[in-house]
Parts: sequence; structure tokens; C-alpha cells
Amino acid sequence: MTDRVRVRYAPSPTGATHVGNVRTAIFTWLFARRNGGDFVVRVEDTDQSRNVEGSIEMLLEALAWLGLDWDEGPDVGGPYGPYYQSQRLHLYSETADALVAGGHAYRCYCSAHRLAELRRSRKQQDGSSGYDGRCRDLDTAERAAFERGGAPAVVRFRMPQQGTTTLEDMIHGEVTFENRLIDDFVMVRSNGFPTYHLANVVDDHHMRISHVLRGDDWLSSSPRHIRLYEALGWATPRFAHLPMILAPDRSKLGKRHGAASVLEYREMGYLPQTMVNFLSLLGWSLDDRTDIISGSDLVGNFSIERISKAGAVFNVEKLNWMNGAYIRMLSVEELADVLLDYWRRFPPAEIPEMPDRGLVLAMAPLVQERLKELSEAAPRLSFFFRDAPSYDSGDLVQKGMDEARTRRALEAALDALEPLGAFDAATLEPPLRALAKELGVKVGQLFGSLRIATTGLRVAPPLFETMEVLGRERALRDIRAAVNRLPEREAATAPTD
Ligand code: GLU
Repeated sequence: MTDRVRVRYAPSPTGATHVGNVRTAIFTWLFARRNGGDFVVRVEDTDQSRNVEGSIEMLLEALAWLGLDWDEGPDVGGPYGPYYQSQRLHLYSETADALVAGGHAYRCYCSAHRLAELRRSRKQQDGSSGYDGRCRDLDTAERAAFERGGAPAVVRFRMPQQGTTTLEDMIHGEVTFENRLIDDFVMVRSNGFPTYHLANVVDDHHMRISHVLRGDDWLSSSPRHIRLYEALGWATPRFAHLPMILAPDRSKLGKRHGAASVLEYREMGYLPQTMVNFLSLLGWSLDDRTDIISGSDLVGNFSIERISKAGAVFNVEKLNWMNGAYIRMLSVEELADVLLDYWRRFPPAEIPEMPDRGLVLAMAPLVQERLKELSEAAPRLSFFFRDAPSYDSGDLVQKGMDEARTRRALEAALDALEPLGAFDAATLEPPLRALAKELGVKVGQLFGSLRIATTGLRVAPPLFETMEVLGRERALRDIRAAVNRLPEREAATAPTD
């Protein structure tokens, strides 16, 4: 180990990259950047049965989207590669051989059947689990017989059976484990692949990792790792076990709570800066008050001391609020580019053809104030992408109005709008307000009909700004079309006798 801070994010390629894993990546990256250290990505792919095609690509894409740049890793390489554990198998087997030779580990020939039986009976007896150590003290002749018989063997670590093992955790403080409660765990499977316990220790050592930040579901495994380091005569890195992310009911965050792949958040329309800020606050805080913290302030202020032990609740309302806040912080240019990029990546049904940047620049301010997710933009702007808005004629008629009155109001609106010299929001509003008064209708009734006529939407961006962006020709054409959809006279009700 060197004095240099070297940390790693060590995902297993077992499918989607969940928010919990990403939060670990963010903390690890922040710690590296804060301390001018190295951020290493290492792929832990030794459990072949769990590997899922394409996970690594998705994972690297997620990190890149979030702006978590890595100094060493599977694609960029580095001085301590390779960065796939499946390409480092010789290191694990050499280490396992050395541990067997030194008496710290042994080959175990127990069949899967025996182990299953053992598990079952121990559970019934005293609820304990784990290996009973049958192969721990085989003599040379017994061992030779098993080897001759060609029985498949695993390699187990010889855990001390007495005493305790103490971890100095940077978050949990001193944690002491009873050795007798920890069984002789498997280090090498019968197919020759290492387990996590062996591989992470070997790699963290050879990759000169100074600090291990990982989920606190690994806390109970740490005495195994500490004993392994000790048996190998290697310095132990410092550990920081990160608190769980919890659902609002404080259960473990699961898929049903939306703990989906982080790339799904991109698809739903969250900004990467929102995700980094929001996830950073799951278990860490700047000062218990500040919610919006820029990326550079996160880097400047991140410290393990301010990570809490207690689980952190994932609050979707807060995420939505924060995303809205980040969207409002964008300049119009930035928002236009973000929307274009988002629409290109996830083409919305409302947009048959990508609009040019000029139009998006004009549209962006119409939605910026109220957007929480980028996905809400296209539906609210749908009328821009068709030749005419789509609606039922009945929608033109506002509460307290009838079709003929609505038609007259819209005709009067046309008369008021046509002579206007300019067609910007500030010019449009006063004559239309005056008109409502003159007609004796409520402002909401007139504006409501105009809103449907020009957008087809009941809830749409601000009316006059929208009409300005639509332009005189289109807006007047839409209002004329609305007039033509309404009868001049209210249909006479059939006389009753
Ligand atoms: N591959 C392990 C996981 O995905 C890594 C744990 C660690 O960071 O050591 O949970």
C-alpha cells in the first residue's frame, strides 16, 4: 500500500446497475477526487453463473453519463490490469496455493449433497449455518485417498476458531467479531474460480487499493478478509461500509420502489447532475440543511466522517423536486440541447420529426418553469409537432359558455388579433383581456377557448408566450379553424309539449 489514495468501484456484471451500487460508485469517486487519488473500476466477474451479457457496457455508460470518470478500468486499462477478474485467475490460484502450503487453507472434498444435508440438520439443531470443518484436519493418507479418487475439491480458509477479529471501520468505528461464529469459507470453487472473498483481497492488494468503500451488507464478511490479509502478510486497506438505501417504509429498497437501473432514470428524464446530487445525500450530508450542491462543491466537501451509519431513505418526491430545480438552473441554450439530446435518444411518440434547434430554443422557456422530468416536455409541446392541434370541438366550450357564444368570442378574438402590428406575448395580452371585459365573459373562459384552439391541451404552457412561438399565421389559422368547428347558432332545443 502507498500513501496515495487509490479506491475502486468493483461491480459484478449481474444485470442492471441499481441505485445502491451507483451511490457506492459516487461516494468512491468523490473520495478519490477530493483526495487527488485514483478511481479504479474493476469488474468482478468470477461467478460465471450470474454474469449477464451487456451489463458492463451498461455500467460504464451509467458512470460516463453521471460524469464519474475513471482513471483505470476495463476499457482504459492501467498499470495494475487486467481489470476483469476473469482475466486474473492465475493470481488467485497462486495465492490459494500459497495459503494451502502455509497451512492457512485446505482442500475440502465434501460433496454438494453432504453440504446440503449439513445445512439442513444444523438449521434444525441450533439455527447455525456454515461448514463443520470435516476436511479441516484430514491426515495425509486421507487426503491422498480423496485426491486419488479424483473427488472435486474446493479450497477453504482455515479461520481461527477462538478469539475475535476487530475491524476499524471509518464509519462504524471498532467492530469486533467472534471467530468461532465464522466458518471456514470457500476461497476457490471446484471449477477453479475464486470466490469474492479471495478475489477482492488479492486484487485490492495488487491494485494498491488504500480504502475500500462498499455497502454495509459486506460488513459481516470483513473479518474473513482481515484474516486473509493477515495470513498473506499484506497490509489491510481501510474500510468504510456504507449505509443501506431504504424504501420509505424503511424496508430494503427493491425494484417495486423504483430501484431500477440508473439508466432508467435517464430514460425517465432525470438529469445526471440531479442523480449525483440526490444520491450523494443518501447517507452523506454537507450540513443537514443544504440540498442543492453542485458537483464541484460535492468534490470539495466530501468526507467519510459525514457519512452516517443509519440507512438512508430514497424519497422520490425529493428526487422530482430536485430535478425540477436543476432544470430551472439550466440556461435556455442548455435546456434546448438537453431536450434535443433526450428526444434523439428516446424519441417520443409526439415528435415524428426532430425539430430544429431554433424551434427548441423558442419552446424551451415555455416548459422550463414547470418541468420535473424531461419526459413531460414533449406531451406539453405536442401541438408544435403537428400541422394543427388535435381536440374535440366540445373542448372549446368552457364552463358557463355555449357553442355559439364561444364562436362569437373567438371571432372577436380574431378581429382583435388580426390588426396587431406585433405578435409577441406582451402585445397579445392587453387587447384580449379588454375583449373579455367587452364581451362580458370571464378571462378564463376566453383564454381557455383560445388555449384549446391553439394547443388542443387543457393544461398547456402559458398562452401568450405559446401563441408568440406559434407565430401569427399559425395561431390565427388555428383560431379560424376553431371558429369553423362551432355552429353560428345554438341548436334549438326540440319543443316539448
Ligand atoms: N462485487 C461486489 C459487489 O458488487 C463488490 C463489493 C466490494 O466493493 O468489495 O457487491
